[in-house]
Amino acid sequence: MKIQKIETIPIRLPTRRVHQWSSLTTPIGVYAIVRVYTDDGTIGYGESPALKDWGGDYMKYYGETPQTTSHIINDILAPSLIGRDPCAIGELHAIMDRAVKGYPYAKAALDMALYDAAGKALGVPAYDLLGGCYRRRIPVAHSIGLMEIDKAVEEARQVKAEGIKTIKLKGGQKPERDVELVRRIRDAAGPDVEITVDANQGYDSPKTAINAIRAMEEYRLLFMEQPVEGLDAMAQVATSVKTPIMADESAWTPQDIYDIARKKAADIISLYTTKPGGLYKAKTVAAVAEAVGLRCNVNGSVETGVGNAANLHLAASTAVASLGCVVPVSTPAGKAKGIAGIYYSDDLIVDAFAYEDGYVIVSDKPGLGIEVDVEKLKHYRID
Ligand SMILES: [Mg+2]
Repeated sequence: MKIQKIETIPIRLPTRRVHQWSSLTTPIGVYAIVRVYTDDGTIGYGESPALKDWGGDYMKYYGETPQTTSHIINDILAPSLIGRDPCAIGELHAIMDRAVKGYPYAKAALDMALYDAAGKALGVPAYDLLGGCYRRRIPVAHSIGLMEIDKAVEEARQVKAEGIKTIKLKGGQKPERDVELVRRIRDAAGPDVEITVDANQGYDSPKTAINAIRAMEEYRLLFMEQPVEGLDAMAQVATSVKTPIMADESAWTPQDIYDIARKKAADIISLYTTKPGGLYKAKTVAAVAEAVGLRCNVNGSVETGVGNAANLHLAASTAVASLGCVVPVSTPAGKAKGIAGIYYSDDLIVDAFAYEDGYVIVSDKPGLGIEVDVEKLKHYRID
C-alpha cells in the first residue's frame, strides 16, 4: 500500500455556546481536516485543531492556523510522503521532521490520518496499533469556559445530572472571581463531583496563584492546571500548595516532561495528540511521564469528531492517562441528548460518539472508528 494523494480542508464548525479561555483570541472549531488517499482505495482522516495563540511557554513552539497547516502539508510534508507506506508511521515521522522543523499540529493531522488508513487497511482499531485497548470507557471532564458565574453554575448542574464526574473550570483572569466560582460550583455540584481549574498561564505571579489555590482548597480541587507561565514559576507554585498542579502549556514534548520532572514543576501532565506532533509521539510523552511518576489525562483543543477520535484512541491505549479527559462527546446536529461534553451544534461525523453516565465509549471499528460525513465536510468548508 502506498500514499497516493493528500489534501487539506479548512473548516469551521458552529459552536453550542461561546467557549472562551484566558489567552484565546480566535473561535474554537476553525480547524483543518486532512485526507490521505492510498493506492488501494483506503482513505484516512486527520485533523489539525490549530490555534494561533497556542504555542507553549514563552512562545517556545509558536501558534499554527488552518492556513499554516495547509501550507506546511501541501507544500512540504505531502511531497515527502507521497509514494510511501502509510503503515511505516515511525519512519514517516522521521521524514516529516527532516522536511520541516516544528509544526506539530500539521504533523499530528497527518499522523492521525496515517493511523486511520493503516487501521482500516489492516482491519484493526487504531488503539491496536498503539498498544491495545487498556480502557474502552473514557471518563469525560466537561469544560466550562469563561462565563458569568450564574451561567457556569447552571451548566455544571446540568452536566452533573447527565452523569459528568469531573468539571473543569476556565479561570486565570481574576483570582477572586475564580475562588468564588469554585465555591459556587462546589455548592451546586455537591461532594461527588471532582473540580479542576485551568488558568491557562493567566495568574500574574506564582504568589497570586499560590494564594488563589490555597483559598480554593477549602472547596477541594482535584488539580490546578497551568496556573503560571514557565517551569521555574510552575515549580514555585507546585512546591507551595497541597493541590496537585497540572502542566499543559509547559508540556508538549518528551523532553518537556523530563524537564518538568527535574524541576518538580508539576504533578500531572496534560497529554495531547497534537502538541507532540501526533499519536506516535504522544505515546513517548506518556512513556516519559509514566517513567518519572507523573499522572496524565488526555486534553485537547475541542476537536471535531475526527481529531477527537484520535484523542479517544490515545486515552484508550495509554494506561497512565487515567484522569478525566477533556474529550468532547462529538455529536452531529439533531442527535444530542444533552450538553455533557458537547461544544458544537453539529459535527463532521455520521454517528455520535456513544456516551454513558459520564463516559464516552471508544469505537472498536477499524482505524479511528469514525465515518466522516462528506456532505458536512463540504458544507463547513471555508475556502
Ligand atoms: Mg489547559
